[in-house]
Amino acid sequence: MDDQPSTQGSIIRDLISDRGPSIAIIGAGFGGIATAVKLAQAGFRRFTVFEQSQGPGGTWWDNRYPGCAVDIPSHAYSFSFMRQDWRSTHATQPELLQYAHDVLDRFELWSHFRFGTRVDEVQWDDEHGGYVVRTAHGDENFDVVVSCLGLLNVPRIPDWPGLDEFAGPMFHSSRWEHDHDLGGKRVAVIGTGSTSAQVVPAIAPYVGKLFVFQRQPGWIMPKGDRVFTAAERRRFLRYPILQKLRRVKLFYLDRRRFKGFDAGSAMQQELRRLCVDFIDSAIDSPAVRAAVTPDYPWGCKRVVVSSDFYPALNRDNVELVSKAVTRVTRTGVVDSDGVEREVDVLVLATGFQPTKYLASLRVRGPGGIDLHAAWGDEPRAFLGITVAGFPNFFILYGPNTNGGFSIIAQLERQAEVVVRAVARIHRRRAAVDTRPSALDRYVRWIDRQIATHASAMEAGCTNYYHAPTGRNVTQWPRAHAEYYVITKLLPRFGFVDAKARS
Ligand code: NAP
Repeated sequence: MDDQPSTQGSIIRDLISDRGPSIAIIGAGFGGIATAVKLAQAGFRRFTVFEQSQGPGGTWWDNRYPGCAVDIPSHAYSFSFMRQDWRSTHATQPELLQYAHDVLDRFELWSHFRFGTRVDEVQWDDEHGGYVVRTAHGDENFDVVVSCLGLLNVPRIPDWPGLDEFAGPMFHSSRWEHDHDLGGKRVAVIGTGSTSAQVVPAIAPYVGKLFVFQRQPGWIMPKGDRVFTAAERRRFLRYPILQKLRRVKLFYLDRRRFKGFDAGSAMQQELRRLCVDFIDSAIDSPAVRAAVTPDYPWGCKRVVVSSDFYPALNRDNVELVSKAVTRVTRTGVVDSDGVEREVDVLVLATGFQPTKYLASLRVRGPGGIDLHAAWGDEPRAFLGITVAGFPNFFILYGPNTNGGFSIIAQLERQAEVVVRAVARIHRRRAAVDTRPSALDRYVRWIDRQIATHASAMEAGCTNYYHAPTGRNVTQWPRAHAEYYVITKLLPRFGFVDAKARS
């Protein structure tokens, strides 16, 4: 802040040792792992990764529902610095958890990770010129804090009347209760997003009856997943350049496809046609075909990628209920027509609350300013990473960074920005802050990009991108290449020594 004590710089000079700043990383998902690897590679070894769960993996630790897998090809949904012998085009959840372990093994990072340790609050401390990091085990001082809490981790639990009175097992998809045997049971899955599209085909073959509750249909593209042949895997291992080329090709194709997010583009029509053809070829019943066909542009909701969701709807034991849920009874689910369907198990695949950034963490900057209060209803961050007035505080997977095809690639870019800032803090012996004017200009640029290149996201369907004010606060509005370029070029224009902000 402008009125920070003038002594701050000198205190930091004393405290930041020659070994570099001390850094608290909160969260051991792929964001925390990327930051740890990049810091270590740059020679900064004074970092601790706090993780509330008992192991690394973040979203891939939490989400263990049947069928859980990534819907982005693995050669893109992985770090550029860590190749893997992928078994198939798209990794499953256990394979992604294994990948997280393999990265920590390969870069010898385990000793930096503190599992089972939740950080509740970080508070700027003027005297030390850094943050007090508060956990159940006590307070610790760090020069820098990097929040790697992820985006899709606060479950959205509907407020339907009667939900608490439901007598059978009921759980959110990201908190799957594996101790219930669903074999032969009547199960309701609420929601038809990316999660439901994986759960439904996975459990349909062994449950007795499956009701799939759809409030508003989403566009679904075929996944095109397959197991790699032994020869392909041998070639990928023997010639690593082939993995790299495949990665480049995947990003190139995604960048072309991104044009479809412009609601008036020819690509939009092409992708829409592809999805309609998929509906026609995959679903037997004309009524179901009509029910799953959206009446808004492709790309308004997050596009679901699944080859087996539509075929699952053809099964005799699966019923698509194309109605909103209005209430729940002790034994069933009531739709908006008042029809009750009796079920034994209720699965809420109802998504998350991504616009509530850093919901589980209290962040207080200089002068005691609370980050959530500073944001109000609209979380904003320069490059999605830093907020003016919160020196030495960084966010991975922050506002308007969701997208870019592979979130792992986006996180890698953000980790690189953090490392550059840490190097600057070390070099200049001064905390780094963000110019308010740079943040304002950046946010205006994001809004313009959304309006021109990603207008489909604003077409009026229900999606999880918008803050209560109506502003899209979650989505990166271009392909990954653009994020790559701006995260290389812009930090020098936005960052400023904390005590000299203007
Ligand atoms: P989601 O995309 O937000 O979908 C939630 C679903 O629940 C929607 O169909 C929504 O209906 C429905 N719903 C929410 N509240 C409801 C209510 N009160 N009554 C009835 N229906 C309700 O959530 P998700 O499927 O968990 O996916 C979230 C995100 O996780 C994805 O967009 C993706 O980014 C990520 N994900 C990724 C993968 C991957 O493979 N990479 C896999 C799974 C998830 P409406 O559409 O009508 O709102």
